[in-house]
Amino acid sequence: TEEILRNTEKLVFAGQIAVGIAHEIRNPLTTVKGMLQLLGKDNCLRHYNLIMSELERMNMIVSEFLILGKPQAVHFRKDRCFPVLQEVLNLFEIQAALNCITVDCVVHADHPIRCDRNQIKQVFMNIVKNAIEALPHAGKIHILLETREGYQRIRFADNGVGMSEEMLQRIGEPFHTTKSEGNGLGMMIVKKIIDAHHGRMDIASEVGKGTIVDIYLPLSED
Ligand code: ADP
Ligand code: MG
Repeated sequence: TEEILRNTEKLVFAGQIAVGIAHEIRNPLTTVKGMLQLLGKDNCLRHYNLIMSELERMNMIVSEFLILGKPQAVHFRKDRCFPVLQEVLNLFEIQAALNCITVDCVVHADHPIRCDRNQIKQVFMNIVKNAIEALPHAGKIHILLETREGYQRIRFADNGVGMSEEMLQRIGEPFHTTKSEGNGLGMMIVKKIIDAHHGRMDIASEVGKGTIVDIYLPLSED
């Protein structure tokens, strides 16, 4: 119990700091992005696309922390996963290409679910990011969308480093990371969001072979 308490305190504290920093960073980031948009249009600024995508990446990191804080306004609506997934894949396109990672996405079915679009985007972002980070020297990410017994399933398969049974057990535990620059918060956020959507997640993984993350989200009833 003492350890749980300590971890909870740690989490609350880190969350407060992270949210504080994230808020401070977001405003100047928005300004720079706006200015750059003007510059890019008027002066054909070189490397415009790269700067924009790097800024977008910073934005993503900030968003990851913001979600830890007080719950943001949540809007559950009828939406489909594929368009959200496409946005996420666009964000990671450069990073994937730089690491010689091919990403393919097969859509067997993409039925509407009741969801908060931003939160679902956050889920996809964290999972795709982990898949990319599991592939330090080239590799493949397969994404598959289909429906299963009242659920939309989104499968993310990578042929990366994989996880041991012990690591798999601890996934989603705050601050549990195997990366030097990781924070061990991504999968905790993913779990939180999936729970809020009454969905579930299955992960299968083997060291040296790869990982399959299956997300199940209930189909919209109307
Ligand atoms: P972080 O990415 O900051 O380490 P996460 O919560 O996103 O934190 O992930 C926790 C840990 O789970 C990672 O450090 C990694 O060891 C493991 N993990 C998650 N996804 C994968 C994956 N696709 N392949 C291998 N390991 C993974
Ligand atoms: Mg992560």
